[in-house]
Amino acid sequence: MLNQYKECIKDADLVLIGVGRELDAKTLIPMDGDEVRNYYKEKGMHGYEDLLALPESKGRNRLLEAYYRAYLLSMEHFPLYDDLVEALEGKNYFVITSNQDNLLYKTGLRDDRICIPCGSGEFFQCSKPCEHKLYPALPGIEALINYYEANGQLEWLQCPNCGEDFLFNVRNEDTVGCYVEEGYLQRWGYYTKWLQGTINKKVVILELGEGFELPNLFKWPFEKIVTYNFKSKLIRVHETLAMATPETKERTEIVAKNSREFLLEH
Ligand SMILES: [Zn+2]
Repeated sequence: MLNQYKECIKDADLVLIGVGRELDAKTLIPMDGDEVRNYYKEKGMHGYEDLLALPESKGRNRLLEAYYRAYLLSMEHFPLYDDLVEALEGKNYFVITSNQDNLLYKTGLRDDRICIPCGSGEFFQCSKPCEHKLYPALPGIEALINYYEANGQLEWLQCPNCGEDFLFNVRNEDTVGCYVEEGYLQRWGYYTKWLQGTINKKVVILELGEGFELPNLFKWPFEKIVTYNFKSKLIRVHETLAMATPETKERTEIVAKNSREFLLEH
């Protein structure tokens, strides 16, 4: 399916890509799916299975999340975007996502052209937060996992500054009001500057799998670009929610298809 748009991408001055919930890690790689379970089983680790079998609780859920994110962070390559990465070779592009995972960093897309405002799961922060500081998550996660594998105790990590619990530095319902934004602000600055450079340029916008989960992040801003930039084109992909506004209809192509299938199908 992406093949149909390769010429269009090739012909563009700039390519802007938005990645939404259809391509979220927890959608593509379910926490209780075989991919993660087999990864731990093959390592001879039983903690992930034990936690899945436990009833839900704060302690169980956050440790399960730690195992899950350790898997995502240790992944070498996530192949879903391979065709897109190839199509973007030599192009000036930027990618923004409303998701809260690090998958885009595993695709071969340029790191410095990826903006993840809702947190990638690579960092911990204080839950208070007592200071606007981020701590690399993986070393702490590995310590928690090793402890659980050995002792079966639901442990967690605390802020070294004030002793409150750590949280994954991701924006969700639980972290509203305490999410530390320092992790993405610099990249956000590059992104907004890059957007200014799209004015009057031939820009192709590929919106993948964004429903109405966080429309103000890029869905509505993309529509605004397409409304005012007559040289732009929006390709909007979503299984059930791909629609064009009256203002952007002429320059929008609707693909009523799941974004995963869109990226994979030839
Ligand atoms: Zn603290």
